[in-house]
Amino acid sequence: MSTGTNHSATTLSKRPQLAHLTAQLDDLRARGTYFKLRVLDDAQGPVCHYDGREVINLASNNYLGLCDHPKLREAAVAAIEKYGVGSGAVRTIAGTMRIHMELEEKIARFKGVEACVVFQSGFTANAGTVSSILGKDDFILSDELNHASIIDGARLSRAKIKVFRHKDVAHAEELLKEIQHEPGRKLVITDGVFSMDGDIGPVGALADLCEKYGAIMMVDDAHASGVLGRNGRGSVDHFGCTQRVDVQVGTLSKAIGALGGYVCGSRDLIDYLYHRARPFLFSTSHPPSVAASCIAAFDILENEPERIERLWANTKYFQEQLALAGFDIGGRTTPKSETPITPIIIGDGRKTMDYSRALFEQGLMATGIAFPTVPEGKARVRCIMTSEHTRAQIDKALEMLTSTAKRMELLG
Ligand SMILES: *Cc1c(COP(=O)(O)O)cnc(C)c1O
Repeated sequence: MSTGTNHSATTLSKRPQLAHLTAQLDDLRARGTYFKLRVLDDAQGPVCHYDGREVINLASNNYLGLCDHPKLREAAVAAIEKYGVGSGAVRTIAGTMRIHMELEEKIARFKGVEACVVFQSGFTANAGTVSSILGKDDFILSDELNHASIIDGARLSRAKIKVFRHKDVAHAEELLKEIQHEPGRKLVITDGVFSMDGDIGPVGALADLCEKYGAIMMVDDAHASGVLGRNGRGSVDHFGCTQRVDVQVGTLSKAIGALGGYVCGSRDLIDYLYHRARPFLFSTSHPPSVAASCIAAFDILENEPERIERLWANTKYFQEQLALAGFDIGGRTTPKSETPITPIIIGDGRKTMDYSRALFEQGLMATGIAFPTVPEGKARVRCIMTSEHTRAQIDKALEMLTSTAKRMELLG
């Protein structure tokens, strides 16, 4: 039935209202950094199909292969059968299910802290927490390479933001000294693992600083959860700082294999976030299946540490072989990776994107990342190792990386 409007697909694109967006896209195309989304046809795994092509997959954050682990699938299906597919409300109204509480209790026990709150994503956990625990008279000291969700949360808080040079604890101290007599609260925040370079944040040294100056210490462990620390407890555990980091954020979307973010800390911190964190108050809680999958994932971390051992053995082999082949995998003009995140630094944005596309044609999925995600001139193809890649798959990936780089004259 006609509604009297013109449904022609071109109507909206002919309107001038959003022409400035088209201009910006044209600019990206001119720079060679415009991209189309690659579409995954099957489950996230070490070998899978994107856009109909079989590839060895070095692009996911599925560090431990949990995205399609049978125990997580089973848990999700059982939860759907028992509780349905949606929670029907935000947590504070009617959307707190028993399984949400079980997940929070499980994470708190795993991390060795009093309490935990689960958010819809790592992004909302960071943004919702930073913005709610500080106000306009307070100060945030943030590493220059911290994740976008921290930056957005800092802006939303209206606190004064001071950015310290990457991992530069002395610079962070200088900034703290400058404001030590100001009445506002101070928060120091770092990523546990930096997502573009794979280096580890100076959690211990920053925790010392926070104690010296009475600052709140916060760590975003998105890429460290399931990767670093005992059974994947994260960078805070890796540095033995569990009782010295006031606010620990993690994600359930990377190594944990499902979706969500969490904050760990004191009972009062968590109670406060229940009352004040805006994504918690104003956005619907997880489907029960997601909570169930996450609970199963933490069981696996506790019971199958060999997955994490495989992840590190694969990482060591892959990075050694890349260095032997002559690739710049960080440590020259960019930070050196200390984790499974492995950047292959190319420099030029267009060359990087061309390299990534050529690899895909060969059967290797490795994401090209250029400005503005990384600084101009530091574009890279980022590879992420997982526990599930076999040695044969890694060797084949190395062969494709090397032969394609030689053909494109990217290797000396
Ligand atoms: C991925 C990531 C996030 C966001 O986590 P999601 O669960 O994907 O929203 C936050 N911080 C860092 C450092 C990340 O790498």
